[in-house]
Amino acid sequence: MSKEPTVHEYETKSSAGTIAIGRKLAALLTPPRLLILTGDLGAGKTTLVKGIATALGAADSDEVTSPTFTLVHEYSGSLDGKPIKLLHLDLYRLDAERQLDSLGLDEMLTPDALVLIEWGEKFKSIRKRADGEITITSEGGDTRKVVVRLN
Ligand code: ADP
Ligand code: MG
Repeated sequence: MSKEPTVHEYETKSSAGTIAIGRKLAALLTPPRLLILTGDLGAGKTTLVKGIATALGAADSDEVTSPTFTLVHEYSGSLDGKPIKLLHLDLYRLDAERQLDSLGLDEMLTPDALVLIEWGEKFKSIRKRADGEITITSEGGDTRKVVVRLN
């Protein structure tokens, strides 16, 4: 029997607040795991990854930038002494499944990998493979709702 997904909900009123949520979340996101990050442009997806990356000791928050052009950024960190490979993808600029071929998604998902994919919901092959989804919704001004669903 498959397990029920777990859902966590947060609200934030600033980028610093979103980074703090990312820092908290990191402990829940044990590898290997592939998650889709959904939300409009400017919702705060990359900002959330800054929090996750800093909690894993993988990067300082100002080192985490959007991989819009390079498609993927890779960082090395750890959680409870175990090494974690953090892969941050942004597929905004891709629109066809076959454009994913050269990315090597299968190779990315090693046992130590946490793969976070902005705009991953656009691709059926990624939706099928995802272990959950983090959705960020603007609620006006700087307020955001963050819903984490882990399958
Ligand atoms: P995305 O990756 O979803 O396109 P970014 O994280 O790159 O979004 O950018 C979010 C933008 O919104 C930043 O300019 C940030 O300063 C601003 N912002 C305002 N309020 C928030 C918030 N609560 N959480 C995250 N970003 C916020
Ligand atoms: Mg982004």
